[in-house]
Amino acid sequence: VCSSDLNGKMNKNFQEGIEVALAIQHQMNDYKGECEVILIPPAVHISKIRELIDHKNLFIGGQNCSEHDSGAYTGEISTDMLWSSGADYVLVGHSERRQYNGETNEICAKKIDAALDNQLLPIYCVGETLEQREKGNAFAIIEEQLTVGSFAFESADFEQIVIAYEPVWAIGTGLTATKEQAQEVHAFIRGLITKKYGKEIAQKTPILYGGSCKPSNADEIFSQPDVDGGLIGGAALNANDFMEIVKANK
Ligand code: PEP
Repeated sequence: VCSSDLNGKMNKNFQEGIEVALAIQHQMNDYKGECEVILIPPAVHISKIRELIDHKNLFIGGQNCSEHDSGAYTGEISTDMLWSSGADYVLVGHSERRQYNGETNEICAKKIDAALDNQLLPIYCVGETLEQREKGNAFAIIEEQLTVGSFAFESADFEQIVIAYEPVWAIGTGLTATKEQAQEVHAFIRGLITKKYGKEIAQKTPILYGGSCKPSNADEIFSQPDVDGGLIGGAALNANDFMEIVKANK
């Protein structure tokens, strides 16, 4: 499994967002690797990007979805809207949504359920804050996030889920987990999946690292045995930097 995901967050207007997607598609045409690349732009860019990109390893994701199917939820975007606009994936439980929008593990479980109901593959984000790490609670927090958010599903559903470990203290801060810290948590996550769903599913589950990943540190993070790829924010605002990271992912 090998995946590099570009989280565009709330950056770039429509034209600028399309330009980045086209620049990545252009560079993907020369890329010889097998890594999947998932562009995760603001939702209003999705249908245009779907129209313009055409590459077997390029996919599109939404940054968030509603846990509800439809109805009086002004401003929300359903999983069917994302899917029918051209998305293949959706991020669930990004730490910025947990922090600013009060998303709990229980809400994340409902969002994953809604995504799976509409053929979207969820990328479920987990990770501890600095305070939680300093108090020695990182592993317990991550276990809770996984157990409540993603372990209530049957094996066949869980197999559709991508996990992203994103230490909150490393997101957008310039601080990166060391390769040892990343590997330690990724191995812990794979161990929990093994206990719950068995070795075969655990080995197949992509576990991505996110948190200030950039061309200069991507190689060593991706070299870790349990790191299957990256979720990239800041460094993905520039298509060349993002593609450097993709190429580091072998
Ligand atoms: C993210 O938002 O998922 C992320 C990893 O951001 P950054 O790369 O900027 O830390």
